[in-house]
Amino acid sequence: MTKRSIETTLTHSDYEPPAGFAAYPTAIHHASTVLFKDVASMRAGDWRNKTAYTYGLHGTPTTFTLEARLAAIEGGEYCLLAPSGLAAISMILLALLKAGDDVLLPDNVYNPTRELGRWLANDFGVSARFYDPLVGARIADLIQPNTKLIWTEAPGSVSMEVPDLPAICAAAHARGIPVALDNTWAAGLALRGFDVGADVVMQALTKYQSGGSDVLMGAVITRDRALNDRIAASHMRLGMGVGADDVYLVLRGLETMKLRFDAHDAAARKVAAWLKGRPEIAKVLHPAFPDCPGHDVWQRDFTGAGGLFSVMFDARYASEQVDRFVDALALFGIGYSWGGTHSLAVPYRMQGMRRNWTDAGALVRFNIGLEGVDDLIADIEQALAKL
Ligand SMILES: *Cc1c(COP(=O)(O)O)cnc(C)c1O
Repeated sequence: MTKRSIETTLTHSDYEPPAGFAAYPTAIHHASTVLFKDVASMRAGDWRNKTAYTYGLHGTPTTFTLEARLAAIEGGEYCLLAPSGLAAISMILLALLKAGDDVLLPDNVYNPTRELGRWLANDFGVSARFYDPLVGARIADLIQPNTKLIWTEAPGSVSMEVPDLPAICAAAHARGIPVALDNTWAAGLALRGFDVGADVVMQALTKYQSGGSDVLMGAVITRDRALNDRIAASHMRLGMGVGADDVYLVLRGLETMKLRFDAHDAAARKVAAWLKGRPEIAKVLHPAFPDCPGHDVWQRDFTGAGGLFSVMFDARYASEQVDRFVDALALFGIGYSWGGTHSLAVPYRMQGMRRNWTDAGALVRFNIGLEGVDDLIADIEQALAKL
């Protein structure tokens, strides 16, 4: 079979059960020690070569199956797993940067990624500079001779600006610089990172792939063998192991991921459209809505949106009032992370989180779960009354 739909790719695995047994689920292989048939095969075993199993940290049939499936979803060749999304990010930055190198990160980057960039700058002799996520092709003006990596995130965390990835990638590639994309929001479903030019695609599997608010895991996907091998060396040196039971939960989650993603998307757009009509809300920062910076780029490059978006409250509401609104929500949990079946709401004070943030209103980020949409809207309505 040549071209499969994403639904089929998500449902069907190439996993082969042991001889004489057949069932759909991938077996959960727990192993630290991996046994070799004899000394010659032990000596021939190379952790870099995924045709052989060498040690628990370097993979089992369970982890190799998940890696192959994630690479297929993104349209990549190689995949490495890490114990969290953030661990996947640190594995990439530590693989591709050394003292004296420069990395460009968007100003709306996932905040722990910003912290990691600052740490590399303060303690490891790397230069980490933050750019306007809407810079587009003008990123070329920021590239220095020592720039070794351009980081992107689409859309950016919390404030949701959508970057022009093809323009950024074209400018980077003209100077021979690889681009890494944090594709967590789109999960490889609403955007395939390699299609817009990314060289390294990272996902927090903690979100939609798991879907159960119960697993922490990350993945790094590449098409280029040399790039994969550099990141694989970082994976090995840092000892990035993942638990077999967690891998199983992600494999299980993948099969329903598209259904869940589309349901989150439809429900989030309904809630966002309702919020757009409310006098308390100044802006709906959902990429499918014109208020969101980069909306036109989203329309051009993405095929969907998932369940995560933010709103800006009118500046007449103090941030304490907006905190009260969030506390008054009954169906929305207050907590970080997202992508699970439960709706969440988190208020943010943007001043201090961005270099040039001028909007005085408070921001609330919503993760729309799989509850009934009308119930969610009714809950938001009663909480708005308590502003
Ligand atoms: C959640 C998230 C991560 C990190 O994932 P963890 O598994 O929680 O470490 C990275 N990037 C983005 C955009 C995220 O939303």
